[in-house]
Amino acid sequence: MSTLMNVDTAHQPHKWKVATVSLAGCFGCHTSFLDIDERLLTLIEHVEFDRSPLTDIKEVGKCDIGLIEGGVCNAENVAVLRAFRANCKTLVAMGACAINGGLPAERNRFDLVDVLNEVYHDRPGLSEGSAIPNDPELPPLLRQVRPIHAVVHVDYFLPGCPPSADAFWSFLNDLMAGRTPHLTHALMHYD
Ligand code: SF4
Repeated sequence: MSTLMNVDTAHQPHKWKVATVSLAGCFGCHTSFLDIDERLLTLIEHVEFDRSPLTDIKEVGKCDIGLIEGGVCNAENVAVLRAFRANCKTLVAMGACAINGGLPAERNRFDLVDVLNEVYHDRPGLSEGSAIPNDPELPPLLRQVRPIHAVVHVDYFLPGCPPSADAFWSFLNDLMAGRTPHLTHALMHYD
């Protein structure tokens, strides 16, 4: 595995702008991304992060790459995802949740109201008067958890739960060198 990003800086007059977000995700994909460890120092020579859990930027701006973790489970996820699609030249579904809904989509087998009642109303041990939260500030849940390609066009899918750090590295090296990303068999997994 190469430890140097093979980017032709002569043809890259600016740093790549990269935005990342976790929608209905667990932040495990972001954690795995950070597992590239000291290679982050190389990456940061070529990349400037826009909106991301790694920055304090609240709204996504014009970017070269958008990395999306998690599927969509509520209205806010949909709005954020659409903003990423509108602003990112290349949009990547990173991880099983973004690709097919992942484990959170297991709730699709149940009626949403039943799930909410089970968690907030019916469970033993809840305090007296416990009810399903209904503050208007809370984003309404979608009836089903959906993969991001059900909402917007996706350019690339990076599989794994999470994708490994080496898979992230290989994928970004390819993308930033102008190659179509290609994961070797060893880096391609869905678990
Ligand atoms: S794909 Fe796995 S690691 Fe990534 S957000 Fe989903 S559950 Fe977490």
